[in-house]
Amino acid sequence: MDIPQSIFYPAAAILGLCLGSFYNVCIHRYLSGQSIAWPGSHCPGCGHSLSWWENIPLFSFFFLGGRCRSCSGRISLRYPAVEALSGAISLVLAITFGLGTAYLVYLFFTGLLIVASFIDLEIFILPDIITLPGAFLAFLASFVMPLAWQDSLLGALLGAGIFLLLQRAYRYLKKVEGLGTGDIKLMLMLGALTGWQGLPILIFLSAALGLLAALFFMVRSKHGRSMQAPIPFGPFLAMGTMIYILWGESIWLWYLGYLV
Ligand SMILES: [Zn+2]
Repeated sequence: MDIPQSIFYPAAAILGLCLGSFYNVCIHRYLSGQSIAWPGSHCPGCGHSLSWWENIPLFSFFFLGGRCRSCSGRISLRYPAVEALSGAISLVLAITFGLGTAYLVYLFFTGLLIVASFIDLEIFILPDIITLPGAFLAFLASFVMPLAWQDSLLGALLGAGIFLLLQRAYRYLKKVEGLGTGDIKLMLMLGALTGWQGLPILIFLSAALGLLAALFFMVRSKHGRSMQAPIPFGPFLAMGTMIYILWGESIWLWYLGYLV
């Protein structure tokens, strides 16, 4: 389309920041069991209603020094983190895909992944209300994307199937739960989004990133800093998927030795 990059890129970043603000609302209200539409934005500590200038993505957090203006309660770092992440990914998607269907489709699924990941980080749940409709929409998206619907369907079934097998095997061998059922449902969505072609890279990357994180927390817990806690896998699957979407092709080419 005919929008110059000098306008599209900043617009994409700002759109991402604003969407991030909305994702924060979704995450907070899912965690606290409130409705998304009502009431308006407020401090979770004291209920103080936020005026427009306390509600500017990313910037308000810094203006306010990370504290509520009314009760001085600390604002969770999650808020600026989600906004910055959403803004940055929107910008990178814009640069990679330009203004078009691919940008919009991936931006939408980025939103689902961010909301699901941050909920998973907090309470170890990947909400069905995100993953299941997300899987269906990812399959529908194959009809407007350069991905055959058969490949999308196969990706969903294969991705979820592999994770179901892993879950059963882990349960059988270790007698404890390793993979959550939420991860299997998330794989339905991710497999449908990338097609079966995306599975090798996205599963490998997520496992590698998850392992690194596990090692990091194990080292930390040796120093008595944190408890040995389970690590939610959803955020790593989300990261693996985003890396595949953005750079999957280059990774394949590199792997196959075309880039020497
Ligand atoms: Zn407050």
